[in-house]
Amino acid sequence: MQIISELAASVAHEVRNPLQVTRGFLQLLNVNTTEKTKKYLSLALDELDRASDIITDFLTFAKPQLDHVAKLHLATEMKHIEGVLLPLTNLQGGEIVSNIPNDLYIKGNSAKFKQALINIIKNSIESLRGKGQIRISALKERNDVVIVIRDNGEGMDEATVAKLGQPYFSTKTKGTGLGLMVTFRIIEVMNGSIHFSSELGVGTEVIIRIPFVQDERIDV
Ligand code: ADP
Ligand code: MG
Repeated sequence: MQIISELAASVAHEVRNPLQVTRGFLQLLNVNTTEKTKKYLSLALDELDRASDIITDFLTFAKPQLDHVAKLHLATEMKHIEGVLLPLTNLQGGEIVSNIPNDLYIKGNSAKFKQALINIIKNSIESLRGKGQIRISALKERNDVVIVIRDNGEGMDEATVAKLGQPYFSTKTKGTGLGLMVTFRIIEVMNGSIHFSSELGVGTEVIIRIPFVQDERIDV
């Protein structure tokens, strides 16, 4: 497993570099050109980004945490996550309403934690199909920080919920089916748990529990 992880990580890095270079040159071509060419270039860029996203997911799966573990201030992390998702919500429609208390701390890798949450909330945004709301809240319960993400999107039946997190499970034409696989892995490495409940046509609720880290503790 260790060898496979390291191999996957190095292949991913090696492949990502030429993708970035190609992206740069394609963008340079995108001036003084016909509408038709512009359209082809835009498709090419989209597909490159998709390839790059898939690589990121594999990298994260292979190395879900390990380095740069720190005490994370949940409200700050969530603010960043919302910022990252703002363009997507503006583009796709729907809104995010969040209410995160200021006194919650968890332990983890900031980038990975953000990726875990972004993958969940992205699905919620996509499930809204242009209208609806995503409510994000958090609270402390015994020794856990509990994060709740609720959408009133298209929802899922029981059979779909049972398949969440399986590699390549997707009901979308352009889905990779890797998002939740990565999320589950990151939450697991943070010693947390994640639970989905959903109803078709009503919406989905995701409950994440992660051990609370005391405010006073400097070292984690
Ligand atoms: P992808 O988004 O690429 O399809 P994911 O692993 O992120 O892969 O999600 C897998 C599947 O789970 C989605 O294709 C969708 O069918 C379902 N799903 C996940 N979250 C939601 C949600 N909030 N509402 C409805 N369906 C969802
Ligand atoms: Mg997804």
